[in-house]
Amino acid sequence: MKPVYVVLNAGSSSLKFQVFEASGREDPRVVYRGLFEGLGSAPHFLVKDRAGAPVAEAHWGIDERFGHEEALSHLVKWTREHRAGHALAAVGHRVVHGGTAYAGPVLVNESVLQRLEKLEPLAPLHQPHNLEPIRILHRRAPEIPQVACFDTAFHRNQPEIAQLFALPREMTRKGVVRYGFHGLSYEYISSVLASYDPKLAEGRVVVAHLGNGASLCAMSRGASIASTMGFSALDGLPMGTRCGAVDPGVVFYMLRDMKLSTEEAERILYTKSGLLGVSGLSNDMRTLRQHAPHDPDARRAIDLFVYRIAREVGSMVSALGGIDAIVFTAGIGENDRQTRADVLARLAWAGFEPDAAANDRNDARITQERGPAAWIIPTNEELVIARHVHSVVSAGKRQLAS
Ligand code: ADP
Repeated sequence: MKPVYVVLNAGSSSLKFQVFEASGREDPRVVYRGLFEGLGSAPHFLVKDRAGAPVAEAHWGIDERFGHEEALSHLVKWTREHRAGHALAAVGHRVVHGGTAYAGPVLVNESVLQRLEKLEPLAPLHQPHNLEPIRILHRRAPEIPQVACFDTAFHRNQPEIAQLFALPREMTRKGVVRYGFHGLSYEYISSVLASYDPKLAEGRVVVAHLGNGASLCAMSRGASIASTMGFSALDGLPMGTRCGAVDPGVVFYMLRDMKLSTEEAERILYTKSGLLGVSGLSNDMRTLRQHAPHDPDARRAIDLFVYRIAREVGSMVSALGGIDAIVFTAGIGENDRQTRADVLARLAWAGFEPDAAANDRNDARITQERGPAAWIIPTNEELVIARHVHSVVSAGKRQLAS
């Protein structure tokens, strides 16, 4: 009987999932990918197989009570029916914040759950949603082991100086430090660097995770030594709807002079800014590309995005003491050739010599042989979670056996 793992990524009204099968000594293999959308208001359930062919679909009406709780019951039942003869061995969760305590994944129990709940104020727009399915399963199906995997964990071993804000010491002691996020994505990239070029795994690499959320990670010998994201997932680069780094004075101005409530200010910085805010049009790069030729606001949003990426790469290069390679990943990094070309053009000072044809073809390596290299490496956060679930569950079994 092959163990089956479900990997969950829960948002406020959505629940994305992947079903993996453990396969001996190799990586767990994904068998299904799916999601619930519109939870709480006429939700929609869709599952596809590994090849992308739809295998299940369901809709619920607006007047049916169908939220996260019902979605999880439906998913557990569906997974058990569709992997008949296999055991649902564990559920893995993407959790945005592990605080200062967790530098790796953790098997959830009551006290872990309580510690994670205490971190909710550090990521108020994500952490509560990430924890909700853990709490529900813990209550309704306590026999299923649950493993929490954190977006902060990969950065926890950064040098102390990279984690510090220049704030009074008592604030640092209270956990007001730079955490960094997108750690599951960076951990995946770190794990595959050697398969692209063994020198990469030993070198100084800047990884640019450019999706709806966006950040940079400076990696030395595969370990994070600096990141553009700080205390919250707002810092650093402009993103789809988040502002990236702004002078904290702007926030005081919003509260004191514009008389916005904390919630209104937070909503603007998280959901009305970034590419959407500057363009006044969309948070989606594909839409902005279509409009940029005739819409100066769309053009400006993209230009600012590229400019900020290039500037922050400079900061990462300084932290690393040089650069051997840059890696582009996530939706924009993997697909938007113009963003990559424009960032590399701005990085000519560092010796990058782009290979325009390779970039247009979305090849893995998109620079010439000389100088630092640029790579496109597709990320896979869910696989990292499945790997962690597999190792935590296997370690638990070994412990029980010994
Ligand atoms: P998330 O952070 O939500 O996982 P993704 O990594 O899927 O986001 O990235 C979403 C972004 O990637 C959007 O801005 C989208 O426009 C962009 N994107 C996806 N495919 C393409 C494409 N073919 N060309 C340009 N941009 C793309």
